[in-house]
Amino acid sequence: MIKENGKGLLIVISGPSGTGKGTICKRLLDEISNIKLSISMTSRKPRGQEINGVDYYFVTKDEFENRINNNEFLEYAIVYSGQYYGTPKSKIEEDLNNGTSVILEIDIQGALKVKEIVKDAIFIFIMPPSMKILKERLMNRKTESEEKVMERFKTAYKELNEFKKYNYVVVNDILDEAVDKVKSIILSERCRVDRIEDIYLDTPEEEIHEELMEKNFNNSNVEI
Ligand code: 5GP
Repeated sequence: MIKENGKGLLIVISGPSGTGKGTICKRLLDEISNIKLSISMTSRKPRGQEINGVDYYFVTKDEFENRINNNEFLEYAIVYSGQYYGTPKSKIEEDLNNGTSVILEIDIQGALKVKEIVKDAIFIFIMPPSMKILKERLMNRKTESEEKVMERFKTAYKELNEFKKYNYVVVNDILDEAVDKVKSIILSERCRVDRIEDIYLDTPEEEIHEELMEKNFNNSNVEI
């Protein structure tokens, strides 16, 4: 009955390091159909258990810069410690055109670039419940030096001021609730009227209903 425009949604999720946006994104993949997480490319070194091609595509700075020159990124930015992070664009267009929604878990600089290019993308900002809790979460990861943790913490202060540039804000205090909220946003966005191209009747039975409806309307008009 309803013909959607057939395009997937581009969903941009940002928030300070340590807000748990990575965990939320992974849960969304399990709980929502027809959705993918874009794998970013970075020049930073793998951390902890990270796997090339799963968590990121890890490349050297030189390779990253070659790819910038070849116009291979939808967006890219220097995020932490002078390292590049970017969204390869080739696969995204294909997925969106095939009706698959794509999540970009990227920083604010990248999100603002996407906002200029993809007008109908959806922007969700994940907030920590407090700065104290954010600092504890960053310290507990134990995957970075104290200096790097402090860099991320300072950046978090700046990033929190940017939330008004997003469409939605979700506080990640209780993980299950935060996941439910982000999930509801995505499912609701999929139902937006501007994503519906047409409403049509596809069975003879529906056409009969339509005839009956018309008759009823005509009759009620006469009565009035
Ligand atoms: P991490 O080093 O902790 O994996 O990520 C650091 C930051 O880089 C996070 O805020 C993350 O959202 C951001 N990031 C990851 N991938 C991309 C990307 O492709 N583009 C941009 N602009 N930021 C990214």
